[in-house]
Amino acid sequence: MKENRKDGRGRVSRRDFLGISGALIAGASIAPISLAAETKKEIKIKQTRVLGRTGFAASDIGMGCASLTEGNLVRYAYDKGLNYFDTAETYGRGASESAIGKAMPYMDRKKIFVTTKLDLKMDDTEQALIERFQKSLGRLKTDYIDALLIAGATSVTQVKSEPFHAAVKKLKAEGRLKHAGVACHGPRGMGDPMEKVLVRAAEDGRFDIMLLVYSFLNQKEGENILAACKRYNIGTTAMKVAPGKLKDVPDFNPENPTAEQEERISMMKGFGMDDEAAIAQVKAMVEGDKAAREQTKPFVEKYGLKTEDQLWEASIKWVRQNSDMHTVCITMTDFDKVDKSIALSGESLTSEQVSLLKDYSIKLGSTYCRHACNECAGSCKYAVPVSTIMRYSYYYEQGYQRLAMEKYAALKTRNESNAISCAGCDAPCEGKCPHGVMVRNNLLNVHSMLTLA
Ligand code: SF4
Ligand code: SF4
Repeated sequence: MKENRKDGRGRVSRRDFLGISGALIAGASIAPISLAAETKKEIKIKQTRVLGRTGFAASDIGMGCASLTEGNLVRYAYDKGLNYFDTAETYGRGASESAIGKAMPYMDRKKIFVTTKLDLKMDDTEQALIERFQKSLGRLKTDYIDALLIAGATSVTQVKSEPFHAAVKKLKAEGRLKHAGVACHGPRGMGDPMEKVLVRAAEDGRFDIMLLVYSFLNQKEGENILAACKRYNIGTTAMKVAPGKLKDVPDFNPENPTAEQEERISMMKGFGMDDEAAIAQVKAMVEGDKAAREQTKPFVEKYGLKTEDQLWEASIKWVRQNSDMHTVCITMTDFDKVDKSIALSGESLTSEQVSLLKDYSIKLGSTYCRHACNECAGSCKYAVPVSTIMRYSYYYEQGYQRLAMEKYAALKTRNESNAISCAGCDAPCEGKCPHGVMVRNNLLNVHSMLTLA
């Protein structure tokens, strides 16, 4: 679809978008947009921070583009002062880069910072990486990329990849690339922890940008990485900054189980249990889930939580309050989310939000499997990649349903274990989790979510 300009500056507004793309809205998954919102106080980026030695002044709120398909969202955010866009060759199999490319003619290239990422494989050559980078350039409709990151680095060995660094050197010499970077959300299976990967990457000297997991629940590890980045003047960007959703759990009626419960019963039977044993197991697990969720109720009541946005907003403010974190990459799936995200620019936590996060850590911390953690890994005889699978469930909750399900299905394709192994296991991993996460229940829930939905 050709994108129109509605005023002399080429700005796009919600109203313009409705005019331009009414037909698209009818079939799209984005939420309907209220025209009344046009009359609200204008929402703008209020703060920028220099991304370390890149020297670029980035908006404190950046756009995480994993599920992006619509160029108008990019233009809308840009018009509000957002200038940092984080994408990857794999996001939507190139659709995310193409969406940014659609918006590119409407933005001042020098005023934005675009990062993309390449997944590194064992047999990648310098030439193969350059060819893939060239495809990203084509989709992004630009002559150069501000930073090329290694996607989801899982080990210290990977950040030293010679084909990657040789490709970066060549692309920089040709003016097609400005900086190298690395993104890490922890190991897969038995890789290195995020802190080790990123601190070594900082010491390596060839990376100017890092994208890391940082939240009020992943504080210590993140702060050690930020200290290393500060020492070497490296630009820092945060991802996965808020815990997942606060969920309710349906009751269990063996005569009338939900689809997920039915699936779980058949998983148990697949491990040799008879009907009675499988039903008893599922009943116990649902009760376990409900007990965990019971902790949620008083918390929700105490803080008058009406929507999950309240926890989400406080979590983002917590991250951006640390001036060593230069920008926060937030997934923005529609115009409302762009507005809500940009409204957090320059904003500090209220005292009530400080208590909310503190209480969440104490009372509900055990409901959340930390990103980038791998402490329970060695205890699983089936080598189930616990935090990786929990990360996929996070993607699902964040609106990347297809991505999450594809990634989960890919575990089996690569002969890696998925959560089905948990059905017949007595969960020694739970004894190893310092946060008291109910690993087995969580993983079985995720298995249902990512294979049935
Ligand atoms: S279950 Fe606990 S130990 Fe295992 S990855 Fe999650 S937070 Fe870490
Ligand atoms: S419940 Fe068992 S199979 Fe599942 S992750 Fe824990 S140890 Fe592994």
